[in-house]
Amino acid sequence: MTQRIFNFSAGPAVLPVPVLEEARENLLSLGKTGIGVMEHSHRGKAFIKVLEETEAACRTLGGIPDNYKVLFLSGGASSQFFMIPMNFLGKTDTADYLVTGAWSEKAVSDAKRYGNVHIACTSKDKNFNYIPEKATYSDKPKYVHFTSNNTIFGTQFTAEPTSPADAPLICDTSSDMFCRPIDVSKYGLIYAGAQKNLGPAGVTLVIIRDDLVKAGAVDIPAMLQYRTHAENDSCYNTPPCFPIYVMGLVFKWIQSTGGLAAMQKRNEEKAGKLYSYLDGSKLFKATAAGGSRSLMNVTFVTGNQESDDKFIAFAKERGLDGLKGHRSVGGMRASIYNAFPAEGVDALITAMKDFEAK
Ligand SMILES: *Cc1c(COP(=O)(O)O)cnc(C)c1O
Repeated sequence: MTQRIFNFSAGPAVLPVPVLEEARENLLSLGKTGIGVMEHSHRGKAFIKVLEETEAACRTLGGIPDNYKVLFLSGGASSQFFMIPMNFLGKTDTADYLVTGAWSEKAVSDAKRYGNVHIACTSKDKNFNYIPEKATYSDKPKYVHFTSNNTIFGTQFTAEPTSPADAPLICDTSSDMFCRPIDVSKYGLIYAGAQKNLGPAGVTLVIIRDDLVKAGAVDIPAMLQYRTHAENDSCYNTPPCFPIYVMGLVFKWIQSTGGLAAMQKRNEEKAGKLYSYLDGSKLFKATAAGGSRSLMNVTFVTGNQESDDKFIAFAKERGLDGLKGHRSVGGMRASIYNAFPAEGVDALITAMKDFEAK
């Protein structure tokens, strides 16, 4: 087999090797069924077991309370940008959004189609290189929405904002779900497209409190109501079977490597090494402000586009792929999700040192 290289892609992104190996085994026959995991009916015993195991693993890992549903939806995290206001935001209602990057902005623009949006804070003034310290909420927001990790700008909330009483907290955790322990009971709804930190593209994990399932609009298409999926255990229609299966393997893999606390420790070590190198470097500079830096996406520049491009090519030659930053920030971005190996971080630091010495 071709040698695997270090993949710094922001998403779809690197998956744990043991997960890929187990999935490969089961492609031709899921267990002893004689039918591959992608070929089973979603109504059959074998797949229902996969679905149940994925949900159970998610619940164990996240310590998810019983009054929350775990749903496996399609349409990507981007579909949650409209599904949330469609369900919860009436024409005359106001929802509060913390705007910390391009994904929050997209969520805002979809919410505006359904009701009023109040921007509780924004870091747009500095091209989203920091997380604002304070949010100013509207009078009685229907909900408060924020993006826990800003994939493009390399910033991350260190703790969840406190929303006003009675306003459920809703979070887009697409690029940092399960990178550290999470207190689900603080949230009304959590969503994450799988392809950054949880699995293959095609499934969106939604964790939603029972009262919000109930409160959702009833005059919208069935597929867009949370209750439809909650009442049918994510099998109202054909769910994304294969991505659900792989995501379940990823949950079990995290559990088997020590759970979320151990994951956080490894993530802090990986990111800490990189930031500490960047802070001491004469050539490279981290773009995110101290105190706002992401454990998952480390963004950095040389300050000169030609040198950036040269470094990206230099690193690629050494088997370090996917380091080009998002077009709105430029420079480099090292996405070092849960499954990204520590050796890859060391290899990147060595490459930066060697490039700097040249
Ligand atoms: C990638 C990303 C999205 C978009 O996810 P899709 O599944 O492609 O719709 C939304 N929010 C954040 C924070 C992301 O990183």
